[in-house]
Parts: sequence; C-alpha cells; structure tokens
Amino acid sequence: MNVPATTLVNLLGLPGPQLQAFVEGMGHKAFRSRQLMSWMYKRGEGQFEAMTDLAKDFRAQLGEVAEIRTPEIVTTQASADGTRKWLLRADSAQAFEMVFIPEDDRGTLCISSQVGCALDCSFCSTAQQGFNRNLTTAEIVGQVWLACRELEKEGQTPYAAGQRAVTNVVLMGMGEPLANFRNVVPALRLFMDDHAFDLSRRRVTLSTSGLVPQIYKLAEEVNCALAVSLHAPDDALRNELVPINKVHPIAELLEACWHYLDEQNGRSITFEYVMLEGVNDSPAQAVAIARLMRGQPAKLNLIPFNPFPGTRYRRSSPAAIQRFRDELLQRGVLATIRRTRGDDIDAACGQLAGRVIDRTTARLGSKVVTVSVQP
Ligand code: SAH
Repeated sequence: MNVPATTLVNLLGLPGPQLQAFVEGMGHKAFRSRQLMSWMYKRGEGQFEAMTDLAKDFRAQLGEVAEIRTPEIVTTQASADGTRKWLLRADSAQAFEMVFIPEDDRGTLCISSQVGCALDCSFCSTAQQGFNRNLTTAEIVGQVWLACRELEKEGQTPYAAGQRAVTNVVLMGMGEPLANFRNVVPALRLFMDDHAFDLSRRRVTLSTSGLVPQIYKLAEEVNCALAVSLHAPDDALRNELVPINKVHPIAELLEACWHYLDEQNGRSITFEYVMLEGVNDSPAQAVAIARLMRGQPAKLNLIPFNPFPGTRYRRSSPAAIQRFRDELLQRGVLATIRRTRGDDIDAACGQLAGRVIDRTTARLGSKVVTVSVQP
C-alpha cells in the first residue's frame, strides 16, 4: 500500500506573524508562538519535546505537524586560524557553503543566499559555477541556527554571558542576496527580531554587487547595515569587473546608497574593494575613489584578492594595498584592509564554490567534487 508521506511544516524561517497564525490555527494562544520562537532561536532547541514549559499536548501536537529543519552538513573544515567552513546540502545534488570567523570580541558568520550566482563578476569563484537556485528563508536562517549549535557543541565560549558564538551575520557568502529579495528579507527580519536572534542592525550586514532598484526596496523593508561591492572608480573598469554595472552604473549606485542611509538613519556604508594587481590598485585610482566618496558617510574595505584555480588575476602587493589606503586616508576617506582568514581551507572572500555532491561516495565518506553548472 502506498501511504503518502505527510509533509511537516518547517517552522524555521517562518516570520513571527506567520508562526503566530500557525499556532493559533492549532487552537493555541498567540503568546505560545513567542515561547516557541524563544526556544527555537534564543535557546537553539530543535526538538519540541524538550521545550519543557510548553504544555505536553501542545508539544505532542507540534511533533505531528511541524519540524525544525536546517540544511544538512556534508563536510566541516577548520582552518589553522580558527575559521570554520561548512559545506551544506541544499538538495540531493547541490551544496553551498558558510564560514565562521572568530575574533577576540566577536564571531562573524558569513552565510550564502543562493547556490551559485548569476552576476558573473570576473574575479569571483562563485561566479564560475553559474546560478543554480535561490536558497529558501529556512535555508538562510538555518545556517545561523546550525552554526550556533555546532559551535556550542565544540565548546566555543561565548564572548559575554548569555551571548551566542555568532554575534555578527554577514550575507557575503555565495550568491547575490538582493537577487533573492523575497527569501532574504524575512531572514534579515528574524536575525534582528527580538523574539528570534535579536542581533542589532549594525551586526547584520547585507553585501550587494549593486542591484539599484532592490537597494531602494530594501530601504523600505528592513533596517540592516549595507555593504556594496564597488571594486573600481570608473564605469569602464567596473563594467569589466562587475558586469551588472552596465545596467546600473556607479553614479546611479551611489545615489541609491546615500538614499539608503537617509531612509535608514544609518551611519555609513561600507564599500568593498578587491585589490587586483595592475587592474584597480594604482594611486591614481585611489584618488578617483576618494573623489567619489568625498564628504559622504562611507568606509572603504580593501580586500586582498583571493586567488582560485583558473583566475587571470593576481593579488596586489602589500605595499600597493598600503599605498592605496594611505591615498584614501590622506583625502579623508576611512579605509581598512581586510585581514585574510581561512585561506588554507579556501574559506576566504570569493573562494566559496558550490559543489555537486558525488552521491555514490558521499554516503561512504565525504568526497566532494567541484563541477561547473551552466546558468
Ligand atoms: N554578491 C554579493 C555578496 C557576495 S561576495 C556582493 O557582490 O557583494 C562578498 C564579497 O567578496 C564581495 O565584495 C565580493 O566582491 C568579494 N569577492 C568576490 N570574489 C573575491 C575574491 N576572489 N577575492 C576577494 N574578494 C572577493
């Protein structure tokens, strides 16, 4: 006899009002949904039966219709510098990555928003695999949930009493978050919801390659920090490095950024700038960047290029990066150099590549093979 499998509702990633409607639909009071949220997100509990201050029959009922399901871990790698990288299963064939970067006073989780990416930035390894699919809200939220649980299991000490190992979340992993707006926005809300992860808006950063209309939309929807991948001072070069620039050139992009800050009452925007030897790292280009940024609440984050197999670019020398930074600082533009972390496990910026799991071997061990997926 063929019994159809019942589909359990995954509560992870459900926006507060939806979770409340779900709980009320089961015949329970609204405040139960807040208790449930607190168990799920504040205490990281994944089993209903362990939620001891919920009524026994409510827990049993939940177990019949719902679940708390995160992406599955395929492999875990630890870098000599403490950085961790997890490969997570999206479905039977596709996987994506997240990275945890511990520092003295914080723990930053870099999460993915898509499997692959459609934007084709010429210096990014994710771009090489093309676009596969958007991650769901549950898969985006599930990354933070899972990392907190895994780090706790490892005994990672929180930075302050009651604090989680993950204190900051950055959407700087695989994918263009604003191209997955519908699923990303509810996830951002849960990161900042005081009944859920309760992170302050300055600790949740979305990084975009510059989807201008979505920056305007984001300004209306949610209040998080914004990072923008600039990488070039002029349109000709940016067209080459970040092809979406042909649709939304620099002047338009910057206007959207200043609008975002005005709407959000934000402090500043971080512009990411990958340092590519002989391409965008000359003192004259630093002067041009300073001209774009003058008088604006902007910070430049200079990222030494992280190479990957097959790339035609090279990392700028430390002296060139320092010189670039000095030129900016002399012109009153705040600039920092991003310390490269986790490069021994290919976990540094731009090195995250999706994998196709070789199912025959994945079951036996954890062999993964990289393949190209056409968009
Ligand atoms: N799509 C989003 C977020 C993902 S990339 C965006 O473009 O902002 C996160 C950051 O890493 C971006 O600034 C991106 O330009 C940068 N990056 C990509 N490839 C890189 C590489 N090989 N070396 C250093 N930084 C890289």
